[in-house]
Amino acid sequence: MHPRETVTVRGIVIGRRDIGEQNRFLDILTDEYGVIEATCYGARKVGGKNSSCGNLFSFCDYSLTKTALRYSVDSAETVYGFFGLAKDFGSYALACYLAELTRGTSAPEQPHLGFTRFFAATLYQIEKGSISRNEIKALFELKLSHLLGILPEFVFCSSCGESPGVLYLSIAEGEAICDDCGGRGYSLHAESLAVLTALQTGYEPYKLRPSTGALAELAPMAEAHLLYHLGRGFKTLDYYKNL
Ligand SMILES: [Zn+2]
Repeated sequence: MHPRETVTVRGIVIGRRDIGEQNRFLDILTDEYGVIEATCYGARKVGGKNSSCGNLFSFCDYSLTKTALRYSVDSAETVYGFFGLAKDFGSYALACYLAELTRGTSAPEQPHLGFTRFFAATLYQIEKGSISRNEIKALFELKLSHLLGILPEFVFCSSCGESPGVLYLSIAEGEAICDDCGGRGYSLHAESLAVLTALQTGYEPYKLRPSTGALAELAPMAEAHLLYHLGRGFKTLDYYKNL
């Protein structure tokens, strides 16, 4: 017999798999425990007590029973319902890609401090629609790269130490190099460099509001850099881009 304990966590469902006719496994993103898998009995039972907390992007305070082997959902209280996401294909597809990205880069039982709030803020911005999906996607990818420790610094050329105004990111080397030192790859002008540095010093991503020109530099770089270093693609990204 394994000891049982009850834990309460605030989390967002970022993945789900049906089991049988009424139940589901949920991947819940939490700050304290990273992404945890919990069984949600009755998630698919219409009108059941767990019918509203077991959907993709449910954002709830979950009361879970934890044994050595697994978690299961006892009850949940909704924090916010992202109902607007499902009304737009593009919005829903982007949210699904960012969820798969998060699942693919989180270790279970590893704290992911502050990330649940950031993920909720991201869903909120996608739903609200006042920032373009292209901008949200790029800023999310950059923030995640930064948190994973794979984004270099963009203040000085990593070869000569000067700050010449334009740096080139070589994705494979993971270095930002100036023109004089033979920099090649994604060119980043002053505004893009300022956005990257602000993001790395903890500025809220969705308050950065890069100009169209800076976003045109940052967006392709953000995706290519992250996918290169993760060494994989994502089905949900292919789907999003083919819409
Ligand atoms: Zn240089």
